[in-house]
Amino acid sequence: MTIDGKSVAHIDDFDVINPSTGEAFAQAPDCDADQLDAAFDAAARAYGDWRTDLALRRETLNAAADAIVANAESLAQVLTLEQGRPVNQSVIELHASAAWFRYFAALDLPAEVIQDDATTYAEVTRKPIGVVAAITPWNFPLLLASWKLAPALLAGNTVVLKPSPYTPLATLALGAALRGVLPPGVLNVVSGRDPLGASMTEHPVPRKISFTGSIATGKRVAAAAAGDLKRVTLELGGNDPAILLDDIDPAAITEKLFQSAFGNNGQICSAIKRVYVHESRYDEVVEALTERVRAAVVGDGFLDGVELGPIQNAPQYERVSQLVASAISDGATATTGGRPMDRPGYFFEPTVLVGAADGTAIVDEEQFGPALPLIPFSRVEDVVAQANATNFGLGASVWGADTDRATSVATQLDSGSVWVNTHMAVAPNLPFGGAKWSGIGVENGPWGYAAFTELQLVLRAR
Ligand code: NAD
Repeated sequence: MTIDGKSVAHIDDFDVINPSTGEAFAQAPDCDADQLDAAFDAAARAYGDWRTDLALRRETLNAAADAIVANAESLAQVLTLEQGRPVNQSVIELHASAAWFRYFAALDLPAEVIQDDATTYAEVTRKPIGVVAAITPWNFPLLLASWKLAPALLAGNTVVLKPSPYTPLATLALGAALRGVLPPGVLNVVSGRDPLGASMTEHPVPRKISFTGSIATGKRVAAAAAGDLKRVTLELGGNDPAILLDDIDPAAITEKLFQSAFGNNGQICSAIKRVYVHESRYDEVVEALTERVRAAVVGDGFLDGVELGPIQNAPQYERVSQLVASAISDGATATTGGRPMDRPGYFFEPTVLVGAADGTAIVDEEQFGPALPLIPFSRVEDVVAQANATNFGLGASVWGADTDRATSVATQLDSGSVWVNTHMAVAPNLPFGGAKWSGIGVENGPWGYAAFTELQLVLRAR
């Protein structure tokens, strides 16, 4: 772990499992209460100086991006070992993380003058909040950490970061790689089991919790933060619909649909998790997507040509297996896939399901895995109502040749992002967040930066 700029020894540890084998291959430190106190104390001490020099913070964020790129190959190896995804995709995660640091290093947010007249000069400025507790999930450990670190640090906050116990190693290695780049205490990286996350949210030092994970845990985080009125940003689960109108060109969109639903084995908060297809095009879409999914190369992330690795962990593997089995026993049909693969590790056949309707778990819940239900619809009003009849509200997409029509359908959907003829378009400058139970607040862009600040009105009477 990295605490106050130094590598700290630990007393207890826990196993980290390679999902391609199902076997433990390493141990990670289990941060104890004294070490957590030490991490927050170090962050609080470092805050005093770190908040004073914006130019230095910009320079340091760029240096952090350089360090991430310099270590991209080795960090990607660790990431694939613990996360499972193909190593070339892990390298992309590293470069994307660096891009987030560079974007925020350059983000300019001047004070906003809101009144300048004979009686009053008033402006709004942004100040840092203090120490931030950052908690991340196992699907994109480094990228989702960077979404928090880069804006939090730019604003002048200091951070204690905790990765998921399923994927702690790449984040710990990132902390080590940044030790010589960030002043001591500015970024502390600890690891441990789930109760460590709860201890962070209950700790008196952090003034903000930036959390990405499941809805159930997000609610616990909000409850823990309330007692101390800590600020929260919650990026939670999704059950994104894609609506395919009657004027789509299936051949032109199949690959995009495949990548948006099966990328990272479907383990993306804003992946397509249910597809509604106009009945006049349903058979064509089922056929094209089935063919693409059947051709997907599944295997160990270190083998050449592999597109999809294993499911990341045993409970998630059990959950996907159970959701697909119960959909099939309720009358759905897998046009391809449908079963766990008969081999070690948490491999599941990439699956397309027809005959699963709203009201069944595979459609109504977040499967977060390589199984996708396709549902026909006839009237646009009905499918909009179906898409919105949920507590989820992360992303949604509408597909059609007439983009004005598709856009007018998209804007009727109650989610944080709506995309037209694409899905999951995410970039450092675009706000990303969920409506309803999919979250509170947004990350990225000036809006995500603002969430790591307190707004201050400065008013001078004239
Ligand atoms: P999770 O909620 O189980 O765990 C997330 C993190 O919270 C882990 O680091 C975990 O150790 C920690 N944690 C567990 N209990 C805690 C507690 N009581 N207090 C504080 N922290 C605690 O989620 P997961 O299974 O790791 O991730 C998958 C979920 O994350 C999916 O639902 C997915 O949709 C969601 N997700 C959302 C986004 C987004 O940006 N909206 C991005 C990725 C994943």
